[in-house]
Amino acid sequence: MSATKSLAFVLHTQDYRDTSLLGDFYTKDFGRIRGIVKGIRDTRARFGSTLEPFSLNEILFYRRRRGAELHLVTQVDLLDLFPVLRDDLERLATASYCSELLKELVENEESAPEIFELMHDTLKFLVSGASAKRAARIFEVKLFDLLGLMPEVKNCVFCRTEAKGIFYFNAGLGGVHCGDCGSKGKLGARHVAASANPRFSAGQGSGRHETSAPISLGTLHFLSHVQRAAISDLYSVKVSQEVGEELEKVLRRFTDFHLSHKLNSLTFMEKIGL
Ligand SMILES: [Zn+2]
Repeated sequence: MSATKSLAFVLHTQDYRDTSLLGDFYTKDFGRIRGIVKGIRDTRARFGSTLEPFSLNEILFYRRRRGAELHLVTQVDLLDLFPVLRDDLERLATASYCSELLKELVENEESAPEIFELMHDTLKFLVSGASAKRAARIFEVKLFDLLGLMPEVKNCVFCRTEAKGIFYFNAGLGGVHCGDCGSKGKLGARHVAASANPRFSAGQGSGRHETSAPISLGTLHFLSHVQRAAISDLYSVKVSQEVGEELEKVLRRFTDFHLSHKLNSLTFMEKIGL
């Protein structure tokens, strides 16, 4: 075993035995890791952090042999608790949602510093006071893009016609299609879907059949703009109420398609009417 230090966001923790915690972390250098933090809940323990959700920490962990699922985390030091977000229910719920989505969509121990930076930028975006809903939508688009799951939003996934007029979004196809292709009965064949958007794996989505729904050009333009722009340039980006609502609906369908269960943070948001 060798000791390794890394910056890490806390994605999730659960009690483990009497005084320990089992933690999911998103580290800057090693992607998502799981580790046991022994004795951290002991009242006599001296740790530099209580590992609050989405807090930024420096952790020291001992990497177990290759293939072992759990590492041993021996030191945790809090770098940023993002206290502003904990005083505001909508921001707290949004930051929790981003952590949970990240935990569910990324594989263990696949290094991707740009995903770590995305999480950091999104929390800073939320701290800045910009719209929490916008922060969530931007996070979703950027995360899909970094994971190679970004839906095709510029051209029909079948005939490559550029999106104009009335186009339809289909989560199962990994993007949009034109009305002509929709009426030609191409939608049912999953093998066609797989080749329609080469970056999209047909194995995802538990084989659910997805229906197509019309999507406005305003929403499609916003999606491709977010994909290209830096987060720091999106703080003040404005969208109409209709586009905002459609974005949320479309991205929710796409996210649901890639998840096997409903996220706790979404259930919480619905409960408090967000
Ligand atoms: Zn088409």
